Amino acid sequence: MKFLSKDARRKLKDIELFVLDIDGTFSISGKFFEGSLKFAVNVERKSKKFVFLTNNSNKSLEEYLEEFEKNGLFLDSEQVFTAGIETAEYLYEKFGSKKIYIVGTSAIKDIFERAGHKVVEHDPEIVVVTFDKSLNYEKLAKASTFVSQGKLFVITNPDLNCPSRDGPVPDTGAIASVIVQTTGRKPDIVFGKPEPLILEMVMKKFNVQKHKTCVVGDRLYTDILLGIRAEVLTILVLTGEAKEEDVHRLGITPDIIANDIGEIADFLGDSE
Ligand SMILES: [Mg+2]
Repeated sequence: MKFLSKDARRKLKDIELFVLDIDGTFSISGKFFEGSLKFAVNVERKSKKFVFLTNNSNKSLEEYLEEFEKNGLFLDSEQVFTAGIETAEYLYEKFGSKKIYIVGTSAIKDIFERAGHKVVEHDPEIVVVTFDKSLNYEKLAKASTFVSQGKLFVITNPDLNCPSRDGPVPDTGAIASVIVQTTGRKPDIVFGKPEPLILEMVMKKFNVQKHKTCVVGDRLYTDILLGIRAEVLTILVLTGEAKEEDVHRLGITPDIIANDIGEIADFLGDSE
């Protein structure tokens, strides 16, 4: 591991809450990395906590819990935060129950219904674009017409692509870019990482302060930027999108760089 900022090593020892990205950090294409389970074991052995915060808006909480169980990790539902769920709750808190057109899967539509909104095909008040693996032309066309009529345009996360074993696949930001190009309108609200709001919701829920919180992720412009904006410790892992040279290229510098999650697990296991 490389400790880039002052006192990063000591700060890491004091961390009480790890906020982990999933894709490219803890797993890839639904399979854990070699050190992932060891990380979970060592964190709990040290009486620390970890939660997952993902910009993936394609899956429900249950799907995540099931996926983790298949890999041998049993979690509480409070340990997983997704941009989809947080967006639905945020829109409800801010605007109340709304008629929403969703570019997304049935899982995400259920999330919005459960949060108190009405998911509609016609006359929406809000258009929400998510990571939609069932995307088709009709959905893009409908969303574009609603956005061009001036409806509130919301995207659950800014990511352009999602890593897979074969290479990057289009994520919410790329899907939304088709609507942006078509209508000439930019999204009114971009949720998910790197907006600090989502991390503040997590820290509040766990009653943990900034200097006891650490964000771990594979992306500089979402995970690491989130941590920097929220003023918490940041660890970049090199198992996903970012390479070490990107740190200098993008000018977004984490406190620590680890080759993989297993290296962090070993550090925690060895530390007093
Ligand atoms: Mg990631």
